[in-house]
Amino acid sequence: MLDYQAILEEIYESVTNVENKGEVAAYIPELANVPKDKFGINLQLITGENYSVGDSAEKLSIQSISKVLSLTKAFQLVGNKLWDRMDVEPSGNPFNHLSLLELENGIPRNPLINSGAIVVADILLTHLKNPKEDFLNFVREISHDHTICFNNKVAESERLTGYNNYAAANLLKSYGNLYNNVEDVLDFYFHQCSIAMDCKQLTNAFFVYANKGKCLKNRQHLTASQVKRINAIMLTCGFYDEAGEFAFEVGLPGKSGVGGGIVALLPQCFTIATWAPGLNPQGNSYLGMQALEQFTTKTQLSIF
Ligand code: GLU
Repeated sequence: MLDYQAILEEIYESVTNVENKGEVAAYIPELANVPKDKFGINLQLITGENYSVGDSAEKLSIQSISKVLSLTKAFQLVGNKLWDRMDVEPSGNPFNHLSLLELENGIPRNPLINSGAIVVADILLTHLKNPKEDFLNFVREISHDHTICFNNKVAESERLTGYNNYAAANLLKSYGNLYNNVEDVLDFYFHQCSIAMDCKQLTNAFFVYANKGKCLKNRQHLTASQVKRINAIMLTCGFYDEAGEFAFEVGLPGKSGVGGGIVALLPQCFTIATWAPGLNPQGNSYLGMQALEQFTTKTQLSIF
């Protein structure tokens, strides 16, 4: 049996000593204030054991990690009709790429880039009675944690500066791939991105993708086939234009966000979340990538 706690501690020692910690995502003013020296990991095994190091119980802004959760809710609600409105191909574009170019005839390349997630948000707005509240409740339910909340300051900060997202939403609207009004869809989108969670809450939430659709409490949220598809999208599209590099270095499906969080998983084995706010030029957590590379190398646990 591997000594997971010792492995996490070794990784902690090694990455917290790295000089270059990357840069925080200053384009969302509220995120620019997060100290760069935060670092935490949480590891949840499918068998129930849980391990953590560092700042794993501190809240981070989940940002694009929320796109997996919104995709999950939309997949539950409309099933394969989703794929009429978006594709499932990697975009190869960086996180801050002008989102307009990620569309082909109004169809976003995949649900994990901003334009795709904005269409997913539109679907949720159409199908949920109280969209923000219902979505938050869904996140709370799969995480088994009713304390999870939006960070309204972060959402407002993005609303005031999210010009790319306004451009993308307007373009989607002009192509007829946005049914609700732009302001409402973006209000939902900025709120979903602003959700604050810690590493433990993230490994809880992502447990369904490691456990054939069943959450920690053994309730079925997705079919095994839907889980296969979401994991495939995470593997190929979860890391901006570094999905290839992440598969190469780490070898797990996962998703990062510009708040510095990364969640990854090995089906039938574990979910793992890291948080280090400094990003590399591609927008992925600089130390998080290194920590996960070390984890799958040391444990020899990856999908490959
Ligand atoms: N809310 C951020 C944006 O739309 C999310 C970016 C990310 O984490 O990739 O720009």
